[in-house]
Amino acid sequence: MAPVQISEVKGNNSRENRTAAHSHIKGLGLRPDGRADQTSGGFIGQTAAREACGVVVDLVRAKKMSGRAVLLAGGPGTGKTALALAVSQELGTKVPFCPIVGSEIYSAEVKKTEALMENFRRAIGLRVRETKEVYEGEVTELTPEEAENPLGGYGRTISHLLITMKSARGTKKLRLDPSIYEAIQKERVRLGDVIYIEANTGAVKRVGRSDAYATEFDLEAEEYVPIPKGDVHKKKEIVQDVTLHDLDVANARPQGGQDIMSMMGQLMKPKKTEITEKLRLEINKVVNKYIDQGVADLVPGVLFIDEVHMLDLESFTYLNRALESPLSPLVILASNRGATRIRGSDSLPPSAHGLPPDLLARLLIIPTHPYTPPEIRSIIRSRARTEGLAVSEPALERVGKLGESVSLRYALQLLAPASVLAKVGGKEGGVIGVEEVEECESLFLDARRSAAVLGNGEGYIA
Ligand code: ATP
Repeated sequence: MAPVQISEVKGNNSRENRTAAHSHIKGLGLRPDGRADQTSGGFIGQTAAREACGVVVDLVRAKKMSGRAVLLAGGPGTGKTALALAVSQELGTKVPFCPIVGSEIYSAEVKKTEALMENFRRAIGLRVRETKEVYEGEVTELTPEEAENPLGGYGRTISHLLITMKSARGTKKLRLDPSIYEAIQKERVRLGDVIYIEANTGAVKRVGRSDAYATEFDLEAEEYVPIPKGDVHKKKEIVQDVTLHDLDVANARPQGGQDIMSMMGQLMKPKKTEITEKLRLEINKVVNKYIDQGVADLVPGVLFIDEVHMLDLESFTYLNRALESPLSPLVILASNRGATRIRGSDSLPPSAHGLPPDLLARLLIIPTHPYTPPEIRSIIRSRARTEGLAVSEPALERVGKLGESVSLRYALQLLAPASVLAKVGGKEGGVIGVEEVEECESLFLDARRSAAVLGNGEGYIA
């Protein structure tokens, strides 16, 4: 197999959006003695659960969590996701946090165990330290060089690029082949930027940003000097944080040369990325080698599975096995169900949280409790501050009441639309008033009212 590719892997942005609702959470907010202050780390209240999560963090650090998992049990909006995120933050910066909902693993294309495996690998990070030979310098010029198309017939095409780089050792023109050109585009290199070009792979990394405006390439051809072999500017330690899933994807991507024939080949073949078991085993082997060589460290993160009762027996069996693996992240499950049937096992009696006994036996169960009215108001106030929204005191009071009578989630969700109404309505400073909150209440129903409107299937839809 080709060397495992680690450059050019990128994370998953859509997942980051899912944690956006928790951007005010900065950790568990515990004192050195492990006690939780009422308000700290972005959290308000839920002190016992935060302290228990702190103990879990200690267990992970002491490597005493293998084969076990955590279950956060409590009603909707009691901060289960926020706690799981905070645990990953406590474990360190750049620790992967992979939140999923139980039902996500069911799809027509991918087997459930495959989907679970993928998310396990999203939650395991790898920090790779490599000493690379690089050219480092400031980009003073980017010039495409025109050359005859070797296949002829289509006129002239750009096959190489010239880049003039200014470094401490003087100015040098480097000739870039098209793959480096792509890398340069991907890194959005502009004139004046400081970049590295790796001597062996040609990978480009932008390390400094110029203030210069993006400039069109100067189309004039120039003389060039090919990258001289052995004349390396610097050895640099480059640290990259990737997840095992990133590695899987990067290495499953159909790869081919830059020549016309293989590009055509890629057009004909469907661009399917298939991550096979074999590929994963290969990747694990290389990863283990890197770890043995001291080039890389594993950074086990947190896999958070919300609404875990949506998983079925087969998935639970898989989960049990995966927890035993030395390559396991910390698994945090969440459920707001009491006794319920295990999905896919109608013959078994209901069990706690819809989980089978062998999995229950592995769990540290942490309850989360409903918030008191003052806590709800504080959470709403802190959320409004993070979102940069201004709320009048009476409006806050009103939203707080909704947090009590409906749910915290519902109350928090009204803030953004209420602020839009305040701005549209020309409220000074866009401050949310009681009117905007009331208008939002009538525009957007909570689940209970929405169900009541439709009745038991006999509502006005019929
Ligand atoms: P569900 O399981 O129904 O999705 P949940 O228990 O995971 O809900 P969260 O999503 O964590 O609840 O909480 C809802 C919102 O309230 C989030 O924006 C979260 O960051 C915030 N929140 C919850 N608890 C606290 C708290 N104690 N302090 C500050 N913010 C909180």
